[in-house]
Amino acid sequence: MSVTETYPIRVELTKESKLSQVDFNDLKFGKILADHMLVAEYEDGVWTDVKIVPYGDLTISPSMSALHYGQAIFEGIKAYKFADGTVSIFRPEKNFERFNLSAQRLEMPAVPEEIFMGGLKKLLSIDSEWVPSVEGAALYIRPFMFATEAALGVHPSISYKFVIITGPVGAYYNKPLRLKVETHYTRAAQGGVGFSKNAGNYALSLYPTRIANDEGFDQLIWTDAKEHKYIEEAGTANLIFRIGDTIITPDGETILHGVTRRSIIELANKWGYKAEQRTVSVQELIDGIKAGEVSEAFAAGTAATLTPISVIGFEGQTYELPPVEGREFSTKVLTYLNDLRYGRVADELGWNT
Ligand code: PMP
Repeated sequence: MSVTETYPIRVELTKESKLSQVDFNDLKFGKILADHMLVAEYEDGVWTDVKIVPYGDLTISPSMSALHYGQAIFEGIKAYKFADGTVSIFRPEKNFERFNLSAQRLEMPAVPEEIFMGGLKKLLSIDSEWVPSVEGAALYIRPFMFATEAALGVHPSISYKFVIITGPVGAYYNKPLRLKVETHYTRAAQGGVGFSKNAGNYALSLYPTRIANDEGFDQLIWTDAKEHKYIEEAGTANLIFRIGDTIITPDGETILHGVTRRSIIELANKWGYKAEQRTVSVQELIDGIKAGEVSEAFAAGTAATLTPISVIGFEGQTYELPPVEGREFSTKVLTYLNDLRYGRVADELGWNT
């Protein structure tokens, strides 16, 4: 079968693989990068010069607009290795869709599917040896795009670079989380950029998160910008609670709509649980914990997978959640997702690519 390629990919392989230097049993998040990267340029209104080259430094101009005005977006995806060696990417088309939503909001060009998805598959076929086969480990995939025009002055850049880098990772969090409800600082407001995965959303989180870290918390629970009364999400993951007999996750345009969150809600529905995507107030959560009605709480994300929450801090008080061991829904979801990702159960939902 011949496929017409609008964006042919030039491939230049590394002369010196770093693979043999990697200890796959001791992977720290984001420290080790695989041998190759995909790079594409956007110039004069078209995508061009798509290539897979050895991972290495990029040359940039000091007046490059991403550095000054922040047109920079990214995604996070994971690929897993089955026991038979098959490499499988978890729902990458959802990240592709979200990436172009982020691009639209930041007035950046859409990346064509052929470059994002086609380029990703080709990159992984070249670096397939980098996908760990250790349980709990995966190849983290980081597609990103930034504005490259060398010119000061606030306006949409006329040129962009799209890049995909990858690297083997272990668990992001290795213990249940202590989260602090943030009631002063704001991550996202109505009409803002909270739903997009842009670099600025993470920059603004660092200072309030460091304060929470100093107070003994691992991460923040962001609340709404207007009243700080409604729960949004954690710093790098969505939040899911089981209150009474219902699985509940906050919703709205101020949160990043996670692929993991969506998958978990889809599973809850499929398995016959009552699941709701709706506004959740801090009061509802705290009252629920006090009344013993919150039986499960966890952070859900590509990096975090599903990390249980053990403690919630709010206005100087801490509230303990029930022991992790007895959490029926979380355990069932995690077992299923791991079995699916490592190819141990049939992919009935078509989530593996
Ligand atoms: N919220 C934020 C702020 C995140 O950074 C992430 C991680 N991408 C998520 C939620 C979870 O999204 P996903 O399940 O697609 O990784």
